This record gives sequence, structure tokens and C-alpha cells, in this order.
Amino acid sequence: KFSHPHQLGFGSFNPTGKIPLGLKRKGLRIVVTGGAGFVGSHLVDRLIARGDSVIVVDNFFTGRKENVMHHFGNPNFELIRHDVVEPLLLEVDQIYHLACPASPVHYKFNPTNVVGTLNMLGLAKRVGARFLLTSTSEVYGDPLQHPQKETYWGNVNPIGVRSCYDEGKRTVETLTMDYHRGAEVEVRIARIFNTYGPRMCIDDGRVVSNFVAQALRKEPLTVYGDGKQTRSFQYVSDLVEGLMRLMEGEHIGPFNLGNPGEFTMLELAEVVQETIDPNAKIEFRPNTEDDPHKRKPDIGRAKELLGWEPRVSLRNGLPLMVSDFRQRIFGDHKEGRN
Ligand code: NAD
Ligand code: UDP
Ligand code: UDP
Repeated sequence: KFSHPHQLGFGSFNPTGKIPLGLKRKGLRIVVTGGAGFVGSHLVDRLIARGDSVIVVDNFFTGRKENVMHHFGNPNFELIRHDVVEPLLLEVDQIYHLACPASPVHYKFNPTNVVGTLNMLGLAKRVGARFLLTSTSEVYGDPLQHPQKETYWGNVNPIGVRSCYDEGKRTVETLTMDYHRGAEVEVRIARIFNTYGPRMCIDDGRVVSNFVAQALRKEPLTVYGDGKQTRSFQYVSDLVEGLMRLMEGEHIGPFNLGNPGEFTMLELAEVVQETIDPNAKIEFRPNTEDDPHKRKPDIGRAKELLGWEPRVSLRNGLPLMVSDFRQRIFGDHKEGRN
């Protein structure tokens, strides 16, 4: 069943690459960069629950210790404060590479995505680990194809305000494929569409977290532009399931991981009103430059090759996020960086 040495937890320490008889699958050694962040911390929960040994590497740029604190004291869990822009020596079987400033208000201050990914690919090459890149639907830019398939090459402005993010992710996809072709690193590429859920940064400016926090605080929901632009919103547990299937499966990708349900920002505002406060007001604001007009994944490839599709609809997922936000905004005062 476990045909590859990685799946037995040997990494580079199994020089023959053969599986010794009589050995059952033991836990893998897995590094999750960005594991103290929103998506990373949910992934860590699943990996720990599965019995793997997890090392989180995070510099807490947007992540929080609170997101992983419940694993402190577990011998299978380790947390390293480290900036992936600096080289890192570890012995592991798999690398989930999520570290990257990922929201508009953060990523322009830190165009370090490329160097960090290069280092993690170097690490994967040295120890023979399997490497999974969390790329983004932003590689499609302001798409001229709708919905977007993985075969679409995108429509991206190379010199715009968002370029360090979308062009950065396009560059690291290239690097990942080069390490695969040139150094035979086993790689996996996920193109993640807008994802929401508990532990999302409260003030990082993404639309779901903004609307939910605004409705809870009795502030108007800020709709940018005319609010007719669309996005597809995926609940975080669906994404984590997709990432794990991708890592364990045989296919490199890229794979779109997203929920095909498509909403305008005005429709999203309505769902937030229904969920939190029907009297919440809407306030229009000027839109940001180069804002993609629409986005919706074609997930045919992931359905067919990974047997994956999302299960949680926006109307079912949103309340789960709201109770976490309510607690963090009103319940205690631990919110903030550390
Ligand atoms: P997040 O900001 O919550 O997580 C990113 C984590 O990386 C944080 O914990 C941060 O502290 C850490 N980090 C940033 N720079 C680092 C560095 N130089 N060294 C070490 N750690 C560093 O964001 P997220 O939403 O959890 O995103 C995770 C990944 O998924 C990112 O690569 C992002 O580009 C990708 N992605 C997310 C979405 C989404 O909607 N959430 C969509 C597309 C792609
Ligand atoms: N690297 C790392 N950890 C390792 C191996 C490499 O951080 O275990 C870094 C290394 O410092 C380099 C990058 O990954 O900056 C790329 O490494 P690679 O060996 O591919 O390139 P080279 O060092 O040969 O240019
Ligand atoms: N947006 C909005 N109000 C907000 C924040 C964002 O209307 O308070 C819009 C934004 O202009 C974009 C969409 O919501 O059209 C999604 O923005 P987000 O930053 O969440 O994700 P991305 O643009 O990266 O898909």
C-alpha cells in the first residue's frame, strides 16, 4: 500500500529506497512552513491527529502562537521561530510550504516569497523530501477564461501593485517545476482559491474577515467598487483535505483547490447580514487597482485525480467562523501579534 519510502517516514535515511519487511507505516516527519497561520494551523491539527511528527516553522509575521498552542507539550509537535528567507537544516519526509505574506495589506511589505521557497526547495532536494507548494488562484490574474482551468496561463499585470504576490507565486511555481525537472525533487502544486474560516487574521483586509468583523462590531460592511466582482469562497477544512490528498497522491498538479460556488461581493454582504446582523449597513468604497473582476475554479481535475471536492457551503461555513471571531473580538484580549 505504501509504495514510496516517504510514506514510511524514512526520507533520505533509507539508502536502498526499499521497504524493510514487516514494518508498518510509522508517522512521517513533516515540516509546515507558515504553520502558525490560518491555513497552516488547521493543517497541523489534522497531521498531528493522524499521528505524524510536525515541525512548524514560522516567523509570526501574520501567524500567531495561539493558533498552535494547544499542541505545546505534545512530543510530536515542535515550533521553530524562523524566517524562511534564511537557510534551514532539518531532516524531514514532507514539506508543506505555506509561509508567505498572503493578504493585500501584508504582502506588499514583504516580497520574500521567492527566496523562502528557494530555500525550502533546497531543503527538499538535500533530504529527498516531498515538497508541496501552496500557490494561488491569483496566478490567473484578471482572468479572460471563466471558470479557470489549470491549463489557463493567466492574465497578470507584471508591474502592478499586486504583482509581487501574483507574479511572485508564478515565479515559485516555475522554481518548483525546475527543481522537479532538474533535481528530481518530488513536488506538488496547489492553486488555492479564496479560503475562510476560524483563525483567519481579523484585520488583514480580506473581504470575508472584514465583513464578519465589521458586522460583529456594528460597523458598516465596506464594499469596494460596485460590489459586482465575484469570488468563490472555500471553507478551510475542505482546503486542508485537498492539500493532504494532493501531498499523498501521485500527481504533481497544479490543482485548483476551491469551492466553485460563485458570489458577488454584494451577495457575500447579504449572507453576512443574514448570518450576523440583518441591519448591518453597506458602505461603498473605491476599489483597489487591478482587482480581478471574477474568479471561480474549475475543479474537474481535482475531482477526477484526487477524488476531492468541497463539502461545506458558504452558508454552513460562515457561522463556524463567526463564533471564533466573536470570541476573539469580544471574548478575550489575547488578539494581536507575538
Ligand atoms: P497566513 O498569513 O495566515 O499564514 C501565513 C503564515 O506564514 C503566517 O503564519 C506567517 O507568520 C508565516 N510567514 C510569513 N512570512 C514568513 C517567513 N518569511 N518565514 C516564516 N514564516 C512566514 O495566510 P494563509 O491564508 O494561512 O495562507 C497560507 C498559504 O496559502 C500562503 O502561501 C498563501 O499564499 C496561500 N493562499 C491562501 C489563500 C487564502 O485564501 N487563505 C488563497 C490562496 C493562497
Ligand atoms: N537550503 C536550505 N536548507 C537545506 C539545503 C539548502 O535552506 O537543507 C538553501 C540553500 O541555502 C540555498 C537554497 O536552499 O540558498 C537552494 O539550495 P540548492 O542546494 O538548491 O542551491 P545551491 O546552494 O546549490 O545554489
Ligand atoms: N473587498 C471588498 N471589501 C473589503 C475587502 C475586499 O469589497 O472590505 C473586495 C475586493 O475588492 C475584492 C474581493 O473583495 O474584489 C476579494 O478581496 P480579497 O482581498 O478578500 O481577496 P482577493 O482579491 O485576493 O481575491
